[in-house]
Amino acid sequence: MKATSSNVIRVAIQRPLYKLLDYNYDQSLVIVPGMRVRVPLGNTKITAIVIDVNVTSEITKLKSIIEVIDETPLIDSSLLTLLKWASRYYFHPVGEVIFHALPKGLRKGKALPKLKQWRINSQALNAFLVSNSLDKLKRAPKQYAMFQLLKETDCDEYLLEERIGSTWKNILKQLEKKGLIEACHIDAPPVAKRENKHSEQQSTKQRKLEQEKSTIVLTQEQQNCIEIIGDRFAEKKPKPVLLYGVTGSGKTEVYFHTIAGILKKGKQALILVPEIGLTPQLLLRFKQHFSSYAIAALHSGLTDKQRLQNWLGAKSGIIDIIIGTRSAIFTPMKNLGVIVVDEEHDASFKQQEGFLYHGRDLAVKRAYDLAIPILLGSATPSLESLYNAEQNRYKLLRLKNRPGTRKRPKMGILDIRALALDAGMSDLLIKEVRQHIEKGQQVMLFLNRRGFAPVLMCPACGWHAVCRHCDIGMTYHASSHKVICHHCGLEETVGKACSECGNKRLTTQGQGTERIEKVLMTHFPNTPVIRIDRDSTSRKGALEKKLEIVKTAKPVILIGTQMLTKGHDFPNLTFVGILDVDQALFSMDFRAHEKLAQQIIQVAGRAGRGEIKGNVVLQSSQPEHPLLLSLLNTGYFQTATHILNERQVWNYPPYGAQALIRVSATKPDAGFNFLNRLSDDLKTITEMLEKTVFMLGPIASPLAKRSDRYRFQLLFSADKKGALHQILEMALPFLLTYRKTGGIRWSIDIDPIDFL
Ligand code: ADP
Ligand code: ZN
Ligand code: ZN
Repeated sequence: MKATSSNVIRVAIQRPLYKLLDYNYDQSLVIVPGMRVRVPLGNTKITAIVIDVNVTSEITKLKSIIEVIDETPLIDSSLLTLLKWASRYYFHPVGEVIFHALPKGLRKGKALPKLKQWRINSQALNAFLVSNSLDKLKRAPKQYAMFQLLKETDCDEYLLEERIGSTWKNILKQLEKKGLIEACHIDAPPVAKRENKHSEQQSTKQRKLEQEKSTIVLTQEQQNCIEIIGDRFAEKKPKPVLLYGVTGSGKTEVYFHTIAGILKKGKQALILVPEIGLTPQLLLRFKQHFSSYAIAALHSGLTDKQRLQNWLGAKSGIIDIIIGTRSAIFTPMKNLGVIVVDEEHDASFKQQEGFLYHGRDLAVKRAYDLAIPILLGSATPSLESLYNAEQNRYKLLRLKNRPGTRKRPKMGILDIRALALDAGMSDLLIKEVRQHIEKGQQVMLFLNRRGFAPVLMCPACGWHAVCRHCDIGMTYHASSHKVICHHCGLEETVGKACSECGNKRLTTQGQGTERIEKVLMTHFPNTPVIRIDRDSTSRKGALEKKLEIVKTAKPVILIGTQMLTKGHDFPNLTFVGILDVDQALFSMDFRAHEKLAQQIIQVAGRAGRGEIKGNVVLQSSQPEHPLLLSLLNTGYFQTATHILNERQVWNYPPYGAQALIRVSATKPDAGFNFLNRLSDDLKTITEMLEKTVFMLGPIASPLAKRSDRYRFQLLFSADKKGALHQILEMALPFLLTYRKTGGIRWSIDIDPIDFL
């Protein structure tokens, strides 16, 4: 008997499946898309998400679901639509996409925990008042304050934290001991209560904070931006705004004002940032500015429980502002009113493994679906966004100056071709560092390579340390006396002698941050030298400790990798030295110049954010390279425009569209053969598509071996995204049916930004 459409649901499961599964269910059950159900699969039971109800199934003999887990949808319909769209756009199995979006605690089918609130136990209260214990309570002012607050309103943890402060848990315990309060569970906050929270009831303390905030007088540029954004955002279908403001121009103030307007209407804000751990400052600034709103962070540094709490808070509307990294784009929000993507150019918005989505691009899509405003901000906008602005799809707004008398830093190239170098640093550079330190200022040196040296070798026989899993050089780390493979993580302790010839004197070549640190310490024995990279900050709290020292504003020398480029605001930092840009100048990757230009401008932007003008020196053996000259003489915008023109000539993104199919296998040829077969099978089809889609490859990936897997790739490029998707639609069935010999794994990367 064919199942009728009325009692069949279609679900997604957390497996790499490109299809949905159908199940029967008892018609007495209430099932809505976005709910979780438990279903039988083979001999196991598995959690699934309902995608569709009332389906007409092709399959005649359907199994029935076991149970319904949720009472209400875990994922609302607009978010579900976004996830389904993302699955199609990125060619990633829909179940994996949806489960990826859920906090870990909910993937396995545990019931949704309810949010806790606390309230006064009215019976206990009467007894309490009768026994005249109130006077006693007044002697514990903090307990009394919480008691008063709870008499006024039931409180969730966010409200308690914000009204009572971080010690609220202890105080709550005391009151619980006295039997005065009790916990209750809620699904959603009583709306009226939240609204009056922001109105007249503000305490004097809060009012004072508001006044302090307003000591910043907005510049004319900032005001103009805020006004235009306000007008734009009032439109029915607001166009995304690209806020292009030079480093230190006060973009954050513009975010604040924009967001404030939305929050006042009782709506929520979602802020995406590249890496929260690196910029605790930004979260702090938001918390200070929006002190009367509930703010929560979502990033990988939280425990699963904290993540779940914040996710639930956003979903139920208790939290007003979510600040998170790329995956926060999947946060369900009860009443989302605006999305802000800070540092929108940052590559970390693109996920590099598993589900290869772009957080910024999905943010634009989500805002479009909801017809809500979105603000993309950067001092170095991505070429994609600049192009969208040029095409009038985004509204471009600019902040060209830093506020007040603060000037943009002066940049110069230091030609090192004829100079003697010590660990890659010229005398002239060291002299500059010394001058700034002696004036009591701070200095930053940038080198995007951690470790001591990229090469460890034997001068007698020519042996050098190579990773046996990746066939690529290992980096020498002096602090642990190890060589480490930066691609697979393999670590080996360095022996006393060359393993090939027994020579006892191994040497290193090139430099990493550890070596620079060591050399600087000998040059400046009395000045703190602070190294900031992945190695020196891996311990929890290590980065904060280092930043504390910088915050004292005393003279320090900072040395670090790209971790230092992001968002930091050190007012007394007046000199930046960029040590090695030459390699990136000649990279094969067509995005290399864009990335380098962004990196240089971002690092340089750390200088001179206070009252004293900053100085930036770029060491290079290519002082006449057109990219460097363009960047220094004409600035980022002109340079970006120039790079865009070049891209247009070659039809590279954002003009054309690209997709990459990557294959890796344990057998050397298996990946190549797999892709070669695909390319053969698709050839007639691409010809049919009349040369609107091109295939390049298969070729070995630039990193041809990694963790004992041999890697190949096939590149697709097309004039239009539509054609690209068409060909991949056709490629998918092939990929799914080929036998996977030699441990084949494949993945599709749409809009790839990394060709490694
Ligand atoms: P961006 O994010 O554009 O790099 P920020 O928003 O971090 O810049 O602002 C840089 C610094 O300038 C901050 O210390 C900020 O408080 C300050 N600032 C911003 N706007 C103003 C203003 N109108 N007047 C004075 N200082 C300002
Ligand atoms: Zn040797
Ligand atoms: Zn390796």
